[in-house]
Amino acid sequence: MGCQKLYLESMETLACTATVLACSLRADGNFDVETDRTPLFPEGGGQRSDTGTMNGARILHCREENGTVLHQVEKQFVPGDVVQIEVDAQTRRLHTQQHTGEHLLSFAYRQLFGAENIGFHMSETQVTIDLDRMLTDAQIAEGEAYANELVWSDRAVRVYTVDASAMQAMPLRKKNERLTGAVRIVEMEGGEMCTCCGTHFTHTAPVGLIKVLEHARYKQGCRVVFVCGALALRWFADENSELRRTAAQLSAKPDGVFDAVCRKEAQLAALQAELRQQGAQLAALYAEKLLAESTASSDGRRITAVLPAGFDVCRAAAEALCRADDVLALLLCTEGGRWRYVCMAGEHCPEDCRKVAGALRTAFGAKGGGSEKAAQGSLTYDGAPARLEEQMREVLTNGSF
Ligand SMILES: [Zn+2]
Repeated sequence: MGCQKLYLESMETLACTATVLACSLRADGNFDVETDRTPLFPEGGGQRSDTGTMNGARILHCREENGTVLHQVEKQFVPGDVVQIEVDAQTRRLHTQQHTGEHLLSFAYRQLFGAENIGFHMSETQVTIDLDRMLTDAQIAEGEAYANELVWSDRAVRVYTVDASAMQAMPLRKKNERLTGAVRIVEMEGGEMCTCCGTHFTHTAPVGLIKVLEHARYKQGCRVVFVCGALALRWFADENSELRRTAAQLSAKPDGVFDAVCRKEAQLAALQAELRQQGAQLAALYAEKLLAESTASSDGRRITAVLPAGFDVCRAAAEALCRADDVLALLLCTEGGRWRYVCMAGEHCPEDCRKVAGALRTAFGAKGGGSEKAAQGSLTYDGAPARLEEQMREVLTNGSF
């Protein structure tokens, strides 16, 4: 018996009464309902499925299977039920804006630059077409302008069927060679003509606007991302709101956001350079003080300290200390809520930093390691810093590593 596909016959039919032919339970708890006719477009040819209602129950999705349309409905029906089916008009219009817009944009890139459309996908938020060649930014913009001219000059759109045998003689942009029998043709005044099973307006103006968002290399050609009509408005509203929020945060005008961010970046780089320089000065001062306080013994100087500074300063101070070639330095600080240590040995210091790391592992469960001349890691310790410093001194002076 099959299903009469009203969406192929008339672009304006958004409701009908129909008879239920079959109904089966789906794994997700909804029902697949087959009817003798439907105004709902099922997902296909790149276009998203319509949504709607069946006697008021939500139709969440439609798919075509073996020539019939299966409606995914929240409610169970029985064969013989006469139902009222309605399409969500706004969703249909949004999908149709994308599809008619897609035809015009694809036509523009072919007409202007000989680029063929080899893929089309519509998601909830954007549409993509894949072209068989890479286009420049300027070409992308030129095609966008060309397609919008076709929208704003409100060209007529005709949908009709021909026998597949007649296709060869027609100037079709895209044709499915496998089609036989009656083939549906969508023709737009201005030159666009191709085989298509999707929904279209009777004129191009309701597309409203075609806006390309970006394009990038894809396989041998490029992928063009765009939005049309209501989706374009939504994009503009979202991005405009984000831009204004960002501008307010930067105390800049919306068209001055880029310059304001560049200024912030330059400020940040200057501050970071200043911070590095001050850190190096601080590390040198710590090293000078610790060296002055240290006492030399027969096996060199062993220096340990907890520094109220970041790890970079700790490391730099240890490096500075070890310029005195008999020093074994073990410096600690807290960073990110844990203790971090760095151990370094001067050129003629006989000790091995890996052994110090091993002793810290045994005594404190410390993690980390390194080489003979430098090791670093982290440990957890809940006591007072002065007590930790004392324990570190014991580790070093007892030579228990
Ligand atoms: Zn189409």
